[in-house]
Amino acid sequence: MKSNRPYDHRKAIALAKIRENYKCELRCGSTVDIHGHHILDYSLGGEATPENILVVCEACHNKLHSGEIYVESIDYSKK
Ligand SMILES: [Zn+2]
Ligand SMILES: [Zn+2]
Repeated sequence: MKSNRPYDHRKAIALAKIRENYKCELRCGSTVDIHGHHILDYSLGGEATPENILVVCEACHNKLHSGEIYVESIDYSKK
């Protein structure tokens, strides 16, 4: 399957992963199967910036998409 995601978004995800040390941001702290989740999807006008990317493990990513976790509840002021 070919990806046509723009280069800028891939770069933003890569930078976000570095920012979080390749750890899930959602408290679980997993370092396995790390994904970049667009807080505001780029198809909805989300920006290709690390600030718009949430770094999550696969399990948490699935919960985000199934609605079990809400991005709005995350505290970005954590140390
Ligand atoms: Zn996602
Ligand atoms: Zn997680």
